[in-house]
Amino acid sequence: MAKVLILGGGFGGVVAAERLAEQLGDEHQITLVSRSRQFIFYPALVRLAFGKCNPNDVSFDLRHTMLNRRLNFVEAEVAHIDPFDRKVIIAHGEVEGKLPYDYLIFALGRRLATEKITGFYEHAHHLLNVDKAIKFGKAINEFKEGRAVLGQCFGARLPVPVYETAFALARHFEKKGQRDRVRITVVSPETIESDIRDTDGAFALKRALDHHEIELLENFPIKSLTQNTAKTSTEEVLDFNLLMLVPPFQGSSAAHYMGVTDTDGYIHVDSNMRVKGHEHVYAVGDCVSFTGPKMGHMAVRQGEVAAANLAAEIAGHEPTSEYSHEMRFVIDEAGTDALYLHKDIWTDEPATVRQNRFWSWAKRIQQRYWEVTHS
Ligand SMILES: Cc1cc2nc3c(=O)[nH]c(=O)nc-3n(C[C@H](O)[C@H](O)[C@H](O)COP(=O)(O)OP(=O)(O)OC[C@H]3O[C@@H](n4cnc5c(N)ncnc54)[C@H](O)[C@@H]3O)c2cc1C
Repeated sequence: MAKVLILGGGFGGVVAAERLAEQLGDEHQITLVSRSRQFIFYPALVRLAFGKCNPNDVSFDLRHTMLNRRLNFVEAEVAHIDPFDRKVIIAHGEVEGKLPYDYLIFALGRRLATEKITGFYEHAHHLLNVDKAIKFGKAINEFKEGRAVLGQCFGARLPVPVYETAFALARHFEKKGQRDRVRITVVSPETIESDIRDTDGAFALKRALDHHEIELLENFPIKSLTQNTAKTSTEEVLDFNLLMLVPPFQGSSAAHYMGVTDTDGYIHVDSNMRVKGHEHVYAVGDCVSFTGPKMGHMAVRQGEVAAANLAAEIAGHEPTSEYSHEMRFVIDEAGTDALYLHKDIWTDEPATVRQNRFWSWAKRIQQRYWEVTHS
C-alpha cells in the first residue's frame, strides 16, 4: 500500500487527486490536505465583484466532493515539508504534527507578496479571493466619477482579470449612461506584449481597449501607494479615485526548506512534473517555476500529468506523461471584443487569436462544467 499526500485544494491538487483515485487501486491511501474545505473557482471572481454571480456560484465543498471519490480530505495548514524524512509538517487544523507520505504532490499555489508594495494593504483593492472581490465590488458601487486605475504589479503573473475588470467597468458605466464621468486606465509594469506574451494578441487587445476608451499605461511598475496616488521607484506619479491591483506573486513559503526553489520561491520541476532533486515528489500549478502567466488550465494539465506519472511510478514503470507549457485564455466582459488566445510558450510560435462574443459564452460553459462535475 502506498500513502499519497496531495497538498492544496485548488485546480492542480483537486485534479491530481481525482485522477489518482481513478488510476490507483483501493489498497492505496490518497489524502488531500488544504487550509479550507472550499474550492474557489477564481476565474469567476471578476463577475462576482460586478454582482453577476453569488459567492455560492464560485465555490464548492471539497470534503463532500473528495468523499464521493473515495479520497480522504484533511482541513489543515501546511507549515513545511521534510522531504528527507518524507513528512509534511502541519501547523494547525484537523491534524497537528507530522503527516508521513510515500509519494507527495505539492499544489499549494502562490503567495501574494503585498508587502513588496508600500501602502498596498491600506490603499489598494484586489480580487484574488472571495472576500476581497466582494469588497472591491462595494467600492465599484460607491465609485461615481474620477479615475479608476487597474493593473498588475511587477512579479504579478495574472493579466486576465485586470483586463476583464477594465472592460467590465467600462460597460458598467456605459449601461448607466455615465461613461463620460470616469476615466479608466490599465497599468502594466512592462508592456501589454509581455503581459500576454504575444504580439498579435497584444494588437487585438489594444484595439479592444481603444474601442472601450480605456487608456493603457505601459512600463509603469508601481512601487508605493498613498490614499490617491501610485508611484514608481523613479517617482513617476499616477492619481486615482479607485484602484485595483494584482500584487506581486511568490512561491508558497511551505516549499522554502526543500532547497528546490528559484529566487521567487517557485519549485523547479521537470516536464514529468517531478520535483528536481527529490524522489517521489511532484509539484503542480502556480507553485512551479515555469515562465509566463500562472493559469488554472495549466494547473489542471500539470495535475493530470503528475497523477499519471505517480501512478506509473507506484506500478514500477517509468513516467511517460509529459507536460507542454501552453497558455490558453479568454478575456471576457468585453462584449463582441471578448478575446481568446492560445499559445505554446516553450516553442514561442505565434498565438492563435480569436475575437467575438462566443468566447464569453465558452468561458461561462467552462465554469458550469466545473460546477456540475464537482458539486
Ligand atoms: C481573479 C482571478 C481570475 C483568474 N482568471 C483565470 C482565467 O480566466 N483562466 C485561467 O486559466 N486562470 C485564471 N486564474 C488563475 C487560476 O485561478 C490559478 O492559476 C489557479 O487557481 C492555480 O491553481 P493551483 O491549484 O496551482 O493553486 P490555487 O488554486 O491557488 O490552490 C492552492 C490551494 O492550496 C491551499 N493552500 C495554500 N497554502 C496552504 C497551506 N500552507 N496549507 C494548506 N493549504 C494551503 C489554498 O487554500 C488552495 O486551496 C485566475 C485567478 C484569479 C485570482
